[in-house]
Amino acid sequence: NYCLYDERYQEEAKAAHALENNLRVSLSTNHADLHRGIDNEEFQLYYHPIINTTENKIDAFEALIRWQHPTHGFILPDQFIPAAEKIQVMDVLGSWVLKKACTDAVQWPYDHDGNPIGVSINLSPTQFIHPEVLLNAAQKAISESGLSPDLVKLELTESSAFSQGMIATIEKLRDMGFRIALDDFGTGYSSLTQVNNLPLDYLKLDRSFVQKIGSDNRFESKGSLRMTQCILSLAATFELTPIVEGIENEYQLRVVRDCGANLIQGYYFSRPMPAAEVADYVRHSSESLVRA
Ligand code: C2E
Ligand code: MG
Ligand code: MG
Ligand code: MG
Repeated sequence: NYCLYDERYQEEAKAAHALENNLRVSLSTNHADLHRGIDNEEFQLYYHPIINTTENKIDAFEALIRWQHPTHGFILPDQFIPAAEKIQVMDVLGSWVLKKACTDAVQWPYDHDGNPIGVSINLSPTQFIHPEVLLNAAQKAISESGLSPDLVKLELTESSAFSQGMIATIEKLRDMGFRIALDDFGTGYSSLTQVNNLPLDYLKLDRSFVQKIGSDNRFESKGSLRMTQCILSLAATFELTPIVEGIENEYQLRVVRDCGANLIQGYYFSRPMPAAEVADYVRHSSESLVRA
């Protein structure tokens, strides 16, 4: 099939280009560049809705950072977060994200039932190196915006083992009222011990599992479904609310809903959107979600 080959070829070319750009950006990202970026307001937050599919409404929006770079153009987080972590500027950038996301969220319209919509914020493991900076930024984001912390999910990635010190900091954040989510679960360093040891509220399944559900490869599709079912029942056992991300089509949506998932995120509902589009999306969501 010529078409399929062509598509794959394009995907590969795109991936190669992304990798190249990634390298270029990483090599040239430095302190001055990042600080200038913050000062010049080159960073932006995009928002991706998490849909409560039982109640047909928006549970929250996840804040996803982008960089409108003067020479590199529009860059995605995978291209600069690793560099930012390496040169230890995630304290500064992460504090900015906390403040901006809470300030944005407090201005969003309520959902059609008159309830406020939450916000979900990604934290880098390197933000836990100086816990006092993180705790301070989180406290300030709440007090200055007036947002209730129980509307804020803090997403931890499983990119590293969680030390005792990190766990203590997560406990403090939770005591302040924030909700804690474990992101990208099922890949990397995930272990049952971590799920048992961390003070968690939500478990976010890694996108790679659902991606293959319904794929042409029957074995891959079946395997992914089994993994998804397994992680969802694990979440239930530990009394954690699962969030499934990466849903791109109706079939995947039906399958994960049949497995008992209720909070769902993915291109099927929407692409991440600029902050300025959130209010309109919320206002129109009551019709569009019922239709979906
Ligand atoms: P993540 O937190 O796991 O976010 C999900 C990523 O998957 C986002 O990519 C989102 O746009 C994408 N996505 C969501 N639904 C779908 C789908 O249905 N199909 C596909 N193909 N992709 C989907 P993005 O925005 O490029 O972010 C990548 C990662 O960068 C995030 O993964 C997160 O780990 C990190 N990140 C983003 N913003 C921040 C931030 O403010 N702070 C920190 N520390 N990390 C961030
Ligand atoms: Mg996330
Ligand atoms: Mg992640
Ligand atoms: Mg994720």
